[in-house]
Amino acid sequence: MRRKKIGVMGGTFDPIHLGHLLIAQSVLDELKLDEVLFIPAGVPPHKDHRAITEFSLRWEMLQLAIQDNPAFIASAIEDQEGKRSYTYDTLCQLIRENPLVDYTFIIGEDSLRNIHTWYKVKELIGLVPFAVVDRVIDEASFLSFIKKYNDMGGNFHPVEMPLMEISSTDLRNRVGARRNIRYMVPESVRKYIEERGLYR
Ligand code: ATP
Ligand code: MG
Repeated sequence: MRRKKIGVMGGTFDPIHLGHLLIAQSVLDELKLDEVLFIPAGVPPHKDHRAITEFSLRWEMLQLAIQDNPAFIASAIEDQEGKRSYTYDTLCQLIRENPLVDYTFIIGEDSLRNIHTWYKVKELIGLVPFAVVDRVIDEASFLSFIKKYNDMGGNFHPVEMPLMEISSTDLRNRVGARRNIRYMVPESVRKYIEERGLYR
Protein backbone atom coordinates (compact mmCIF):
# COMPACT_ATOMS: atom_id res chain seq x y z
CA MET A 1 0.00 0.00 0.00
CA ARG A 2 1.31 3.45 -0.93
CA ARG A 3 1.99 5.71 2.02
CA LYS A 4 0.00 8.92 2.07
CA LYS A 5 1.82 12.27 2.07
CA ILE A 6 0.15 14.97 4.14
CA GLY A 7 1.32 18.51 4.81
CA VAL A 8 0.41 19.94 8.19
CA MET A 9 -0.39 23.62 8.30
CA GLY A 10 -0.55 24.93 11.85
CA GLY A 11 -1.56 28.46 12.74
CA THR A 12 -3.89 30.62 14.74
CA PHE A 13 -5.95 31.38 11.63
CA ASP A 14 -7.48 34.43 13.28
CA PRO A 15 -8.66 34.84 10.56
CA ILE A 16 -7.50 32.46 7.83
CA HIS A 17 -6.42 34.44 4.73
CA LEU A 18 -5.29 33.95 1.15
CA GLY A 19 -1.64 33.83 2.26
CA HIS A 20 -2.35 30.66 4.27
CA LEU A 21 -4.23 29.07 1.38
CA LEU A 22 -1.52 29.92 -1.14
CA ILE A 23 1.21 28.51 1.11
CA ALA A 24 -0.74 25.27 1.45
CA GLN A 25 -1.35 25.01 -2.30
CA SER A 26 2.27 25.87 -3.15
CA VAL A 27 3.65 23.18 -0.84
CA LEU A 28 1.03 20.65 -1.98
CA ASP A 29 2.11 21.15 -5.61
CA GLU A 30 5.86 21.42 -5.02
CA LEU A 31 6.17 18.37 -2.75
CA LYS A 32 3.40 16.43 -4.56
CA LEU A 33 1.45 15.87 -1.35
CA ASP A 34 -1.91 14.12 -1.27
CA GLU A 35 -3.49 16.56 1.17
CA VAL A 36 -2.85 19.52 3.43
CA LEU A 37 -4.25 19.28 6.96
CA PHE A 38 -5.02 22.63 8.60
CA ILE A 39 -4.77 22.59 12.39
CA PRO A 40 -5.95 25.73 14.18
CA ALA A 41 -4.17 26.27 17.50
CA GLY A 42 -6.23 26.02 20.68
CA VAL A 43 -4.41 28.33 23.08
CA PRO A 44 -1.26 29.11 21.14
CA PRO A 45 1.81 29.29 23.40
CA HIS A 46 3.29 32.29 21.56
CA LYS A 47 0.22 34.50 21.44
CA ASP A 48 -0.72 34.83 25.09
CA HIS A 49 -0.48 38.60 24.91
CA ARG A 50 -3.76 39.10 23.12
CA ALA A 51 -7.23 37.60 23.23
CA ILE A 52 -7.60 34.98 20.54
CA THR A 53 -10.96 34.60 18.84
CA GLU A 54 -12.96 31.63 20.12
CA PHE A 55 -11.96 28.32 18.54
CA SER A 56 -15.41 27.60 17.08
CA LEU A 57 -15.43 30.86 15.10
CA ARG A 58 -11.89 30.37 13.73
CA TRP A 59 -12.91 26.80 12.89
CA GLU A 60 -15.99 27.94 10.94
CA MET A 61 -13.96 30.47 8.96
CA LEU A 62 -11.45 27.73 8.17
CA GLN A 63 -14.23 25.44 6.93
CA LEU A 64 -15.58 28.17 4.67
CA ALA A 65 -12.09 28.82 3.31
CA ILE A 66 -11.18 25.24 2.43
CA GLN A 67 -14.52 23.75 1.39
CA ASP A 68 -13.98 24.09 -2.36
CA ASN A 69 -10.58 22.35 -2.34
CA PRO A 70 -10.80 18.55 -2.03
CA ALA A 71 -7.10 18.35 -1.06
CA PHE A 72 -7.57 20.66 1.95
CA ILE A 73 -8.77 19.11 5.20
CA ALA A 74 -8.90 20.30 8.81
CA SER A 75 -8.42 18.84 12.27
CA ALA A 76 -9.61 20.13 15.65
CA ILE A 77 -6.96 18.07 17.46
CA GLU A 78 -5.62 21.18 19.26
CA ASP A 79 -8.99 22.33 20.58
CA GLN A 80 -8.48 21.32 24.20
CA GLU A 81 -10.13 23.57 26.75
CA GLY A 82 -7.51 26.11 27.70
CA LYS A 83 -4.64 23.64 27.44
CA ARG A 84 -1.60 24.84 25.52
CA SER A 85 -1.06 23.04 22.25
CA TYR A 86 2.49 22.29 21.20
CA THR A 87 3.39 21.39 17.63
CA TYR A 88 5.67 18.62 18.89
CA ASP A 89 2.86 16.91 20.84
CA THR A 90 0.37 17.33 18.02
CA LEU A 91 2.69 15.77 15.45
CA CYS A 92 3.56 12.88 17.78
CA GLN A 93 -0.14 12.17 18.22
CA LEU A 94 -0.82 12.32 14.46
CA ILE A 95 2.10 9.99 13.71
CA ARG A 96 1.00 7.56 16.43
CA GLU A 97 -2.60 7.49 15.22
CA ASN A 98 -1.79 7.36 11.48
CA PRO A 99 1.22 5.09 10.96
CA LEU A 100 0.70 4.91 7.17
CA VAL A 101 1.04 8.67 6.67
CA ASP A 102 4.23 10.67 6.06
CA TYR A 103 3.77 14.15 7.50
CA THR A 104 5.56 17.34 6.47
CA PHE A 105 5.15 20.42 8.65
CA ILE A 106 4.55 23.67 6.76
CA ILE A 107 5.71 27.02 8.09
CA GLY A 108 6.35 30.54 6.89
CA GLU A 109 9.80 32.07 7.07
CA ASP A 110 8.85 34.25 10.06
CA SER A 111 7.96 31.15 12.07
CA LEU A 112 11.29 29.53 11.19
CA ARG A 113 13.02 32.62 12.62
CA ASN A 114 11.65 31.90 16.08
CA ILE A 115 11.44 28.12 15.96
CA HIS A 116 14.33 27.98 18.45
CA THR A 117 11.85 29.13 21.11
CA TRP A 118 9.39 26.28 20.40
CA TYR A 119 8.73 23.42 22.80
CA LYS A 120 11.17 20.49 22.33
CA VAL A 121 12.69 22.09 19.25
CA LYS A 122 15.53 19.56 18.88
CA GLU A 123 13.15 16.60 18.92
CA LEU A 124 10.72 18.48 16.67
CA ILE A 125 13.36 19.10 14.02
CA GLY A 126 14.20 15.40 13.92
CA LEU A 127 10.56 14.29 13.90
CA VAL A 128 9.30 15.34 10.44
CA PRO A 129 10.54 17.20 7.35
CA PHE A 130 9.61 20.88 7.12
CA ALA A 131 8.49 22.90 4.12
CA VAL A 132 9.38 26.56 4.60
CA VAL A 133 7.73 29.24 2.53
CA ASP A 134 9.53 32.49 2.00
CA ARG A 135 7.85 35.51 3.57
CA VAL A 136 10.66 38.01 3.02
CA ILE A 137 12.50 39.49 0.08
CA ASP A 138 16.03 38.55 1.18
CA GLU A 139 16.46 35.18 -0.59
CA ALA A 140 20.14 34.68 0.37
CA SER A 141 19.52 35.13 4.08
CA PHE A 142 16.46 32.85 3.84
CA LEU A 143 18.48 30.03 2.25
CA SER A 144 21.40 30.38 4.66
CA PHE A 145 18.94 30.21 7.54
CA ILE A 146 17.50 26.98 6.15
CA LYS A 147 21.02 25.60 5.70
CA LYS A 148 21.78 26.34 9.35
CA TYR A 149 18.87 24.14 10.44
CA ASN A 150 19.74 21.37 7.99
CA ASP A 151 23.30 21.36 9.35
CA MET A 152 21.75 20.83 12.79
CA GLY A 153 20.13 17.61 11.54
CA GLY A 154 16.88 19.06 10.25
CA ASN A 155 15.18 18.30 6.95
CA PHE A 156 13.98 21.71 5.73
CA HIS A 157 12.82 22.36 2.16
CA PRO A 158 12.47 25.91 0.87
CA VAL A 159 9.31 26.33 -1.21
CA GLU A 160 8.79 29.27 -3.50
CA MET A 161 5.61 31.26 -3.72
CA PRO A 162 4.74 34.77 -4.86
CA LEU A 163 5.29 37.12 -1.97
CA MET A 164 1.97 37.93 -0.33
CA GLU A 165 1.98 40.68 2.23
CA ILE A 166 -1.11 39.55 4.09
CA SER A 167 -1.19 38.81 7.80
CA SER A 168 -4.02 38.11 10.20
CA THR A 169 -2.80 40.96 12.41
CA ASP A 170 -3.14 43.42 9.56
CA LEU A 171 -6.57 42.03 8.66
CA ARG A 172 -7.82 42.45 12.25
CA ASN A 173 -6.50 46.02 12.30
CA ARG A 174 -8.16 46.79 8.99
CA VAL A 175 -11.53 45.51 10.14
CA GLY A 176 -11.13 47.47 13.38
CA ALA A 177 -10.51 50.61 11.33
CA ARG A 178 -13.52 49.83 9.09
CA ARG A 179 -11.27 49.29 6.08
CA ASN A 180 -11.93 46.78 3.33
CA ILE A 181 -10.48 43.26 3.38
CA ARG A 182 -12.05 42.03 0.15
CA TYR A 183 -9.63 39.91 -1.97
CA MET A 184 -7.41 39.30 1.06
CA VAL A 185 -9.59 36.54 2.49
CA PRO A 186 -12.05 34.25 0.68
CA GLU A 187 -15.31 36.10 0.06
CA SER A 188 -17.20 33.65 2.29
CA VAL A 189 -14.82 34.47 5.16
CA ARG A 190 -15.15 38.21 4.55
CA LYS A 191 -18.95 37.91 4.77
CA TYR A 192 -18.70 35.78 7.92
CA ILE A 193 -16.51 38.38 9.63
CA GLU A 194 -18.91 41.14 8.62
CA GLU A 195 -22.07 39.30 9.68
CA ARG A 196 -20.64 38.30 13.06
CA GLY A 197 -19.08 41.70 13.66
CA LEU A 198 -15.68 40.11 14.37
CA TYR A 199 -12.59 42.25 15.02
CA ARG A 200 -14.55 45.47 15.52
P1 ATP B 1 -0.70 36.80 12.89
O1 ATP B 1 -0.56 38.10 12.19
O2 ATP B 1 -1.84 36.76 13.89
O3 ATP B 1 0.58 36.25 13.45
P2 ATP B 1 -0.42 35.25 10.49
O4 ATP B 1 -1.01 35.90 9.29
O5 ATP B 1 1.07 35.30 10.67
O6 ATP B 1 -1.18 35.77 11.78
P3 ATP B 1 -0.52 32.62 11.57
O7 ATP B 1 -1.77 31.89 11.91
O8 ATP B 1 0.32 33.18 12.66
O9 ATP B 1 -0.93 33.79 10.52
O10 ATP B 1 0.40 31.80 10.58
C1 ATP B 1 0.34 30.43 10.32
C2 ATP B 1 1.51 30.08 9.42
O11 ATP B 1 1.36 30.74 8.15
C3 ATP B 1 2.86 30.52 9.96
O12 ATP B 1 3.79 29.51 9.71
C4 ATP B 1 3.18 31.78 9.15
O13 ATP B 1 4.58 31.92 8.99
C5 ATP B 1 2.53 31.48 7.83
N1 ATP B 1 2.08 32.66 7.08
C6 ATP B 1 1.04 33.45 7.39
N2 ATP B 1 0.84 34.42 6.47
C7 ATP B 1 1.79 34.23 5.51
C8 ATP B 1 2.11 34.90 4.28
N3 ATP B 1 1.41 35.97 3.87
N4 ATP B 1 3.16 34.44 3.56
C9 ATP B 1 3.86 33.35 4.00
N5 ATP B 1 3.61 32.68 5.15
C10 ATP B 1 2.59 33.10 5.91
MG1 MG C 1 2.01 34.92 12.52
